[in-house]
Amino acid sequence: MENTSCFHCGDDCGNHIINFQDKSFCCNGCKTVFEIFNENDLTCYYDLQNSPGAIPKEIEGKYDFLSQENIIEILYGPMHHKNVPPRPYRMVGA
Ligand SMILES: [Zn+2]
Repeated sequence: MENTSCFHCGDDCGNHIINFQDKSFCCNGCKTVFEIFNENDLTCYYDLQNSPGAIPKEIEGKYDFLSQENIIEILYGPMHHKNVPPRPYRMVGA
């Protein structure tokens, strides 16, 4: 008997194969996640999985700001202190 692996998680689909858009899924959860990716044009996620470490051209450079050292200040504002858990920055008087 042929084993079908889930397009999303790679698990063996067993006897509960869910077919959707010519792909096989082990459960509704996996199918739903694929559906969401598909609807939002995020199926490059699967390319990522097939070639770990590779950056798809569409998002290359897009997240460079995350490696900036001052990202904490950008996200939480300049007033945070080392010993105080950072809080979302609020405009004074807002
Ligand atoms: Zn699955």
